[in-house]
Amino acid sequence: MGDHLVRGLGLGGRVRAVAADTTEVARELARIHQPTRTVTTALGRLATGALLLAASLEKVTTREPLLTLEVDGGGPAGRMFATASPAGWVRAFVANPRATAAPTDDGRLDVGSVVGRAGHLSVTRDLGAGRPYRGVVPLFTGEIAQDLAWYLTESEQSPAAVVLSLTIEPHGGVSGASGVLLQLLPGVTEGEARELTGRVKELGPLAASVCGPEGWLEALFPDGLEGAENTAVEFRCGCSKERVLSALRLIGAREVGGLLRDAERGTPAVMTCEFCRTPYEVGEAELRGVLGDIVSARLRASVN
Ligand SMILES: [Zn+2]
Repeated sequence: MGDHLVRGLGLGGRVRAVAADTTEVARELARIHQPTRTVTTALGRLATGALLLAASLEKVTTREPLLTLEVDGGGPAGRMFATASPAGWVRAFVANPRATAAPTDDGRLDVGSVVGRAGHLSVTRDLGAGRPYRGVVPLFTGEIAQDLAWYLTESEQSPAAVVLSLTIEPHGGVSGASGVLLQLLPGVTEGEARELTGRVKELGPLAASVCGPEGWLEALFPDGLEGAENTAVEFRCGCSKERVLSALRLIGAREVGGLLRDAERGTPAVMTCEFCRTPYEVGEAELRGVLGDIVSARLRASVN
């Protein structure tokens, strides 16, 4: 079975559980962004974390709700973010995919150093109606999973355990990526929480085990899950020429004018999507159209 996510309720409805195999997503992100091994790990964890969190979003309009997980830790990787939907789509961006950090003392990839520990982690939930809700916490490990658990516990008062696991071959290929998110709802006793934490620790590096999300959840909840649902997961960008033109309308008349002059001299404007690296060529007529839209929007603003 390919990438997928399983969600359900454990302990008689008192624990929200989500587990995902995101191996193909992590491979696709590595193919698109060509990151170093350490950034591949960070990006894979971020995308998996966004998918796990997005799984609990409710659809309130016809538009798919979106969750954006952003990490800006002040490290060499720079700003990173991933956007995911409960339908199982995810895309991710990193400012500096080529960032590196020396391995940790015990030989592991030092994700915390490449991400940094000085900035913040934010979660934005956009349900497609009303204003998106955004919560922010300071980063303290830069390892992403612990920071995400801290965010849920601190900012959303929902005690949580998060495991994000990615195994990577020496030449940089992703051999497995996965994650588990458990959120304790009211009514979980301290003893139950302790027992569950112990089982989470026993799972070990998830990505290296072959049993998949169903197997991990079975190990965590031997009594089974209520309402378990299975969703296919995939990298999906959702960019289009229309969106590129909308973005151009926001960058300003002077910049678009510059692109138009270059196009008239024979250098076409090429806008590259920062999520999937798809190049979009914007022709002279389209640039003129965008320029016209910017000017008429300004006129409207000055009249009102
Ligand atoms: Zn794209």
